[in-house]
Amino acid sequence: MRILVTGGAGFIGSHLIDRLMSANHEVICLDNFYTGHKRNLLKWLNHPYFELIRHDITEPIRLEADQIYHLACPASPVHYQYNPVKTIKTNVMGTLNMLGLAKRVKARFLLASTSEVYGDPEVHPQPESYRGNVNTIGIRSCYDEGKRVAETLAFDYHRQNDVDIRVARIFNTYGPRMLENDGRVVSNFIVQALQGKPLTVYGDGSQTRSFCYVADLVEGLMRLMNGEHHGPINLGNPGEYTILQLAQTVQNMVNPDAPLKHEPLPQDDPRRRQPDISRAKQFLDWEPTIPVDQGLEITIRDFRERLEAEGKLPAPAAAIAGD
Ligand code: NAD
Ligand code: UDP
Repeated sequence: MRILVTGGAGFIGSHLIDRLMSANHEVICLDNFYTGHKRNLLKWLNHPYFELIRHDITEPIRLEADQIYHLACPASPVHYQYNPVKTIKTNVMGTLNMLGLAKRVKARFLLASTSEVYGDPEVHPQPESYRGNVNTIGIRSCYDEGKRVAETLAFDYHRQNDVDIRVARIFNTYGPRMLENDGRVVSNFIVQALQGKPLTVYGDGSQTRSFCYVADLVEGLMRLMNGEHHGPINLGNPGEYTILQLAQTVQNMVNPDAPLKHEPLPQDDPRRRQPDISRAKQFLDWEPTIPVDQGLEITIRDFRERLEAEGKLPAPAAAIAGD
């Protein structure tokens, strides 16, 4: 098949492309390189079945594809809040353009939505039927509300134009290739611990998240795309951690001497987050297989190698990290 991946130079997108290319599909990647990098796709750049196009999805584009995985959108609060108007445009105009393309070429379309559509949830864990508790005017709204509109667009194109859609609600995902300055909690804690810096716990650290390893997530996305269920379907790891527990886990695994430092909790930071994955189990026969400590090991190794190669590990921390 010819498969289009928007945001394919980013963290999740590049892992997805690795899987699609390995399965001998023809892949076109669209990316504006805002948070994505060519280095994530280096091994495919000269492959005859791979095409990388620098393109901003807020502009229309004409090409042919059988399936579209629509992932383009910065996912880290630091990056999506840097230019919130652009984030809205990417979610609304970008999704509109990609749905228009799907309609024209009759491609199956998968939207990478997010657990953020549940906002600061009053129902725990969150099933897909929960409609969420989202602030329309807060600093996270450009992303949360942007994704909610993107879901609405997908379902309206389905009802009105018969576009064959899939909607995945992705919960916090981590793994190799996260950006060192990504700002998300897993990458922050690992980089800080490796560099011997204090681990920045926002608030008292009692807020919770559930962390899914990227390979599991990609498997879920592919099962959703190739199954018959439109969704929305939660994809995430039901194991719930407080942020303080995560900090202590990373501390123990990387550098027990790295101290913890509390910083103010950002506005509208959700108190808790845990996916109900009954639907994914029932319809996709999917559930995560990689436990958090194992996924963290792999992620820590990846960060250590990258930071070491760039000379960004201070000598004492490098010694600890290399033990
Ligand atoms: P990422 O920031 O690493 O990747 C996003 C990619 O989209 C980057 O390559 C970026 O350059 C590209 N992009 C952004 N705006 C664009 C635009 N206007 N035109 C073209 N390309 C653009 O993020 P990620 O973690 O890989 O997330 C991928 C998708 O999954 C996003 O849609 C995100 O909302 C969703 N998601 C991710 C998580 C997570 O925990 N990683 C959780 C929920 C949802
Ligand atoms: N967080 C933290 N320290 C950091 C980065 C994040 O304590 O250095 C907290 C953040 O306040 C939130 C949780 O970790 O409660 C997850 O944050 P992230 O940005 O990774 O994802 P999201 O909030 O979008 O789920």
